[in-house]
Amino acid sequence: GYRSRSAYKLQQLDDDAGLIAEGDTVVDLGAAPGGWLQVAAERVGDHGTVVGVDLQRIRDVDHENVETFRGDMTEERTRTKLRQRVGEQGADLVISDMAPNMTGEYGLDHARSIHLARQAFETALELLGPGGDLAVKVFDGQDLADFRADMETEFEYVRAIHPDASRDESSELYLVGKGLLTAPVRVGD
Ligand code: SAM
Repeated sequence: GYRSRSAYKLQQLDDDAGLIAEGDTVVDLGAAPGGWLQVAAERVGDHGTVVGVDLQRIRDVDHENVETFRGDMTEERTRTKLRQRVGEQGADLVISDMAPNMTGEYGLDHARSIHLARQAFETALELLGPGGDLAVKVFDGQDLADFRADMETEFEYVRAIHPDASRDESSELYLVGKGLLTAPVRVGD
């Protein structure tokens, strides 16, 4: 069995948007307790790699292709560590299920969620190779459109997906950016 109900959300996102291929290097942000790690590990197979990070300690996942460490994605040193783990080759996919501690105050929870999603986006721009993909959780609200517009400048296209498995949490959705664009070649370079 999977460690979290979230596992079914990643299965649905992948089945819907075609995110994970065999042999991929996948970076999972906010990975505890590890349901997404289990799904990603199965789908990348023996030749793939999954790197997970969370504020919380992540219990060892029973797959040889998974490594995890503890870190705060709002800190630069965590991103440096990820760059070192992923190496020159870069990642094929960054997935983020990061969520703030809920206060119940809607505007605050939304703003914190967008802040974490932006951390995931910045990290994805650093780690992904050309053509790479990002799937990131957000709570719906007033700052979502601006965030989506920023993602749209960096990917071939962006979709919003509400997995059935998250229908209970109605304000939650995932933005999926497909195909990281390479920097335009400037004349004279
Ligand atoms: N996808 C996971 C799974 O399948 O087991 C569930 C993730 S849970 C919904 C959200 C996670 O985001 C929590 O474990 C939380 O600790 C983590 N998180 C929140 N803020 C974070 C941050 N700044 N850096 C790293 N992880 C963070």
